[in-house]
Amino acid sequence: HDYSKDDIRQMAEDENVQFLRLMFTDLFGTIKNVEVPISQLEKLLDNKLMFDGSSIDGFVRIEESDMYLYPDLTTWMIFPWSSERGKIARVICEVYTPDGKPFAGDPRNNLIRVLSDMREAGFTDFNIGPEPEFFLFKMDEDGKPTTTLNDSGSYFDMAPMDLGENCRREIVLTLEEMGFDVEAAHHEVAPGQHEIDFKYADALTAADNIQTFKLVVKTVARKFGLYATFMPKPLAGINGSGMHLNMSLFTKDGNAFFDEKGDLQLSETAYHFLGGLLEHARSFTAICNPTVNSYKRLVPGYEAPVYVAWSGSNRSPLIRVPNSRGLSTRLEVRSVDPSANPYLAIAAVLEAGLDGLKKKLVPEESVDRNIYRMDAEERTENHITNLPDTLHNALKDLSADEVMKKAMGPHLFPSFIEAKNLEYDAYRTQVSKWERDQYLEMY
Ligand code: GLN
Ligand code: MG
Ligand code: MG
Ligand code: MG
Repeated sequence: HDYSKDDIRQMAEDENVQFLRLMFTDLFGTIKNVEVPISQLEKLLDNKLMFDGSSIDGFVRIEESDMYLYPDLTTWMIFPWSSERGKIARVICEVYTPDGKPFAGDPRNNLIRVLSDMREAGFTDFNIGPEPEFFLFKMDEDGKPTTTLNDSGSYFDMAPMDLGENCRREIVLTLEEMGFDVEAAHHEVAPGQHEIDFKYADALTAADNIQTFKLVVKTVARKFGLYATFMPKPLAGINGSGMHLNMSLFTKDGNAFFDEKGDLQLSETAYHFLGGLLEHARSFTAICNPTVNSYKRLVPGYEAPVYVAWSGSNRSPLIRVPNSRGLSTRLEVRSVDPSANPYLAIAAVLEAGLDGLKKKLVPEESVDRNIYRMDAEERTENHITNLPDTLHNALKDLSADEVMKKAMGPHLFPSFIEAKNLEYDAYRTQVSKWERDQYLEMY
């Protein structure tokens, strides 16, 4: 919505808003928020609200501790759940430095920067339709999540198999109250696993929506005594949670991926963009799959991609071309998981695609057979490579890719790699139950 300052003042008054949640996202994709009483509204509207950013992940440098929050008024939203003392509104903010510049360590600012590069390349919009999946776990008496699933349903099951149904319905209703266009909600393949798809939006709005979505899912689940997690692979042996990203690129004339006369009715732009995605797939994996746990999902047998390939028909590869054409012609990147920082993930895939356009990259032939039935030799013949198999290897690929460096900028790129290498090291030096079960008595 295009709200003016006066609209905001009016809505705050009419709805008895007492608190303002000022939200932004850190390097790891965690939503941060400062809550201020309504008395601070004018200060906020004047871009004068200051906070100390020194303890925020990825903001690190001491000289960057005084930061300002500039509200993006289009994101103003009053939460449907209210406290007894009045309502709570949120607004997503851009982090600015004291000298009035967008702070480069703010992932949202970074996406805004990449989007302006896109406009310079002649496009108007990059649209993203996400398919976030999540698990609902039971909580214990202390409100801590357990690993007990709340149902044993499977794909598209209905009640009574799907006990999460009431909770999911409440999530959908809450999202709608908050202005989301929910397109589908269903039980996913794994027990306790769900998916809710909402309408595509321009890249920045879509990333904001993903963040809001996670907050809503977690908040509503709690009311049902359930814990919602977006962890990519909470349990071994069953499917993990992905967050497929459907993407399309628009010019003022419409969807630049569509060409009635093209192969599969895809335009040359679509093929170059696809070429760029495939070219940088290994290196954007660390961004789209940023946790140690992400790589437990990217294994054969659980509907998650493992190989770098695309297809117009098959569902197994990394990139798929869903069946709709015309305005909704799109590419679906299936590796992304919901632990990804959506601002960084979207910037990364966009930069990869734009690089494909710039260099006129041509994708390999599509692979319409089941890749999982091919042996290594057949895959090599078909030029099919693997996605990185650990965060460590993914970070190596990321570090070496100049285009991904451009996608994150000179502040975020090194901070991300450093932080994630530390994370991997912390994991690597642990001794797990699996190891003891395997080796303790064997040696
Ligand atoms: N959960 C699967 C994944 O990890 C996707 C399953 C599906 O949507 N068909 O990506
Ligand atoms: Mg889906
Ligand atoms: Mg799904
Ligand atoms: Mg999908």
